[in-house]
Amino acid sequence: MAGHEIGDDPVDTGAPIPVGRAGYSFEILPPRTPDVEKSVQTSLAELVATGPDFISVTYGANGSSREVSLEVVRHLIQNTSVPAMAHFTAVGSSLPEASALVREFLDSGVTSFLALRGDPPQGVRDEDLLLGDFGSASELVQLIHRVQSEREPFLTRDVPGFPGAKRLGAGRKVTIAVAAFPNGHPSSSSRRQDIDTLLAKEAAGANLAITQLFFHPEEYLGFVEDARAAGVTMPILPGIMPVLSEKRLHRVVELTGEAMPARLLEQLRAAEDPARAGISHAAQLARDVLAGGAPGIHLYTFNRSDAPLAVLAEAGLLTSKEITA
Ligand code: FAD
Repeated sequence: MAGHEIGDDPVDTGAPIPVGRAGYSFEILPPRTPDVEKSVQTSLAELVATGPDFISVTYGANGSSREVSLEVVRHLIQNTSVPAMAHFTAVGSSLPEASALVREFLDSGVTSFLALRGDPPQGVRDEDLLLGDFGSASELVQLIHRVQSEREPFLTRDVPGFPGAKRLGAGRKVTIAVAAFPNGHPSSSSRRQDIDTLLAKEAAGANLAITQLFFHPEEYLGFVEDARAAGVTMPILPGIMPVLSEKRLHRVVELTGEAMPARLLEQLRAAEDPARAGISHAAQLARDVLAGGAPGIHLYTFNRSDAPLAVLAEAGLLTSKEITA
């Protein structure tokens, strides 16, 4: 599958997802211990080998995984041809602290971010969250653009037809993705608020949205329809998680605040091979949202390669060469 460079065109401020081609991307987590590191490296190599559009690397709450997240992103940038997207949260940070961190990421070669407000640390309620200088992801989107334009206000470009001649042009733009919530953010009071938040993120300069996981195609498709009607134009990439056991499903529902998907729960309970049932569910979801016009799918991998690749194969998104790679 042809790779696609995110934000690689210095003058392109548009969507990083190729329109009209059903691509896929992955989310991975920074390893927490050296033991896990080895298995992550193996999974990562297998995911990279399939040529995804990009791989995003999460960022621990309150920047707790900053060093290791950045290390994984640097690894992707330096050793693979797969574009890396760095998740970045600024909750609790002051403006100078967040600016310095953004600069550190940019200096490491990061050109693609997923800008997030961030979650409260464990035990702190959303309403008691100390936001620092950042009340929302939109403000972080603006900050990233500002730091980048101060860092690189101009680029020298060739003049076509005049060998050796150079002209000054606008500096390189970064790609900034943001989160979207088809079933509503837990602290949102209405669908209207979720869509207004997304509109605000686009107005601040975001050019891609990636959704929270969901379990039914109509949840994503209905959300996209409402977002478009409200004026959101950036691509909205559906986030899909293969859930491989009943225990895991309970945990995921608890963490995300999503409603329990009764049918999937039943399928996982009844199946002789629950992992297989979870993969089939995710593959069907992928097929349905793509048929409804999704620009691709973003798979939450939990640092596994087997389940995400099985989902892609069953959804018909991998060629036979990629499956055997
Ligand atoms: P925001 O867009 O700022 O919005 C959060 C809520 O506040 C919404 O309900 C919104 O309606 C409301 N809101 C925002 N602005 C206003 C306003 N001005 N007035 C009133 N209400 C407002 N977390 C991590 O810590 N690390 C990660 O790597 C990470 N990766 C993620 C990846 C994806 C794809 C998704 C969907 C989430 C991820 N998260 C991650 C979780 C995320 O940080 C939380 O969901 C967080 O609670 C919200 O972040 P946000 O960027 O959507 O916030």
